[in-house]
Amino acid sequence: MGNYLKSFGLGNDYLEIADSKFIEEVDSYLKRLFPICRSITGNGVRQSLEILQEIADFDIKEIPSGTKCYDWTIPDEWNILDAYIKDASGKRIVDFRNCNVHVVSYSIPVEKKLSFSKLKEHLYTLSEMPKAIGYKTSYYNLDWGFCLTHEQLESMDRSEEYYVKIDSTLEPGSLTYGEGYIEGTSGEEYLISSYCCHPSMGNDNLSGIVLWAFLLRALKHLKPRHSYRFVLAPETIGAIAYISKNQEALKRVKGGFILTTVAGPGEFGYSPTFLKDHFIDKVVKKTFDELDINYKKYPFQIGSDERHYSAPGLRIPIGTITKDKYYEYDYYHTSLDNMDYINAANLVETYKVYLSIFDRMEENVIFNSLCRYCEPNLGKRGLYPKVGGPSRAKNPALIETNMICGLMFYCDGKTSLFEISEKTGFPMDQLLETALKLCQLNLLEKVF
Ligand code: ZN
Repeated sequence: MGNYLKSFGLGNDYLEIADSKFIEEVDSYLKRLFPICRSITGNGVRQSLEILQEIADFDIKEIPSGTKCYDWTIPDEWNILDAYIKDASGKRIVDFRNCNVHVVSYSIPVEKKLSFSKLKEHLYTLSEMPKAIGYKTSYYNLDWGFCLTHEQLESMDRSEEYYVKIDSTLEPGSLTYGEGYIEGTSGEEYLISSYCCHPSMGNDNLSGIVLWAFLLRALKHLKPRHSYRFVLAPETIGAIAYISKNQEALKRVKGGFILTTVAGPGEFGYSPTFLKDHFIDKVVKKTFDELDINYKKYPFQIGSDERHYSAPGLRIPIGTITKDKYYEYDYYHTSLDNMDYINAANLVETYKVYLSIFDRMEENVIFNSLCRYCEPNLGKRGLYPKVGGPSRAKNPALIETNMICGLMFYCDGKTSLFEISEKTGFPMDQLLETALKLCQLNLLEKVF
């Protein structure tokens, strides 16, 4: 992979530094954040956002329980300290301390003795994956439950009584989310969103929140032309709450990405925007093609928070780049989607692809020709070879001349560098370099 970040003026150096030290740094955050029990509200989200603030500066905001957000209401806040099932001998046979996926998220507090048959109404297993603990939630239905491996269930004595305790609280509090904003000068704004509500699972979606913070740090450092709005909120209710608070501002957003499932061992994938051929889709394709990376092409799905950001009122085109896409991998929404399944090196690969995409978005400048009624006389400016001939297209020495002619032909104040790259086949970074040279010669002017 090459040609990263030229328009930011940093060449590959930034990413080479990243390669040697960055994987270790990313790994340390994955390992610190993995054990925290996150849900759609509560201290797990707060604690996670505070750790991510060490990576990049952003605001942590709270919306009180009971707040109306369109058709939804912010629920009471859920917190949990401990949970277990004990057998008759007092041994914890299911233990929240070993794995927080064991507890159905938003379980109400419970402490009682009950028969196996009564307890079983609250137990969930995956018979097709007997060693995995499935992930379950009960956000809007007051209930409690445990998820356990099918092997654990099979080993339970059906004649025994069991003692269960869920030491949780569900009471008025707030929903917590993170927001970072980078203000550019181009007038274009993009949304980068991820969700922070899953307990200890790696690809979905610890990987997304860690990538979110590192991309925020990188873009802040690179001082981009465009504005970038970074949102990290619980899935569904968090995105809805965020939109309800920022409805008008979000109407300015031209497109965006949802960061999810980005550190699995599988190949890259791309889930397009609902428009399928929006600028976001084209720039992703161009980036993968120019980096020579094969990737799976998924059809549009009304998947994660695209459901809200792309809803009729906003219609923001949102794309998603994945390494083992949600729904698609065997360990999805199970305890086996853990730190053995994902790794920091995979996450860094996705980080590079995203930065490379942002780089092309940044390079998408519009220029206007100052020589409007003919091609300029390149010879008198020393830009044209002294001996002319018909073989211009095949002579590598004339590539720059071809690029100049292409730019002088297409730069009409409307056609963007991305489009010129598509029409001429020249990479955007080379076109940009040449166009800036032509600006110095007063042959082009930068419009936007
Ligand atoms: Zn999920």
